[in-house]
Amino acid sequence: MGNSQPALIIPALIENWQAVRARILQCASNCGRNPDEIHLLAVSKTFPPAAIAALAQAGQTSFGENYVQEALQKILELKSIEPALIWHFIGPLQRNKTRSIAEHFDWIQSLDRFELAQRLSTQRPLALPALQCCIQVNISAEPQKNGVSPQALLVLAEQLQKLPRLRLRGLMAVPSATATPAELQASFEHLNQLFQTLRERYGSSIDTLSMGMSADLEAAVAAGSTLVRVGTAIFGAR
Ligand SMILES: *Cc1c(COP(=O)(O)O)cnc(C)c1O
Repeated sequence: MGNSQPALIIPALIENWQAVRARILQCASNCGRNPDEIHLLAVSKTFPPAAIAALAQAGQTSFGENYVQEALQKILELKSIEPALIWHFIGPLQRNKTRSIAEHFDWIQSLDRFELAQRLSTQRPLALPALQCCIQVNISAEPQKNGVSPQALLVLAEQLQKLPRLRLRGLMAVPSATATPAELQASFEHLNQLFQTLRERYGSSIDTLSMGMSADLEAAVAAGSTLVRVGTAIFGAR
């Protein structure tokens, strides 16, 4: 039984991935957006390297991970097989994990503290390009949630300009899981306003508005998302 499992799972995985791509095309078309402006990040946390390799072979290049230890094993294992993959760290950022992130990821989307940004910049190896960053915004103002407040965002964005090995690309948010559709829509629109403010200030290098997950990617794309982070709809329940 065990040996036949991957052969059964992988076609379903590719089908799921194609269905998510079709959803993105459909909602881009519904709201008159160019689908090329909407990137798909496959959130592979808790799923094995074989699943990532199968998607990579089908054409998926960007993968998101939340847990540093788990991610490092996968990144190192896949490096020789799929050297062109782009890895995004999207989990809570801890002080003792900054070096591993700086050395092994291409992006961090969960930046919310200048002190940790400084560490990442210092620890980013010179042989690698700058670490691409999104600031995480606590858009639903949940007390226990990661992310900066909208009020603190511009201060942090300005501080990041001074760090030579980091490059600010935009914003990321995870709205409240209990938001009503109307609250969700309002959160996405608010994040887009903050993104536009950042673009006015720093220009077109700010090009990434990371919002939308398996259950709400349509609403996020309608509100201007340029990157949706999809786990469950591709890989199944965790
Ligand atoms: C797990 C996770 C996702 C993926 O969520 P799904 O609902 O499984 O698509 C997206 N973004 C972040 C920050 C996550 O932690």
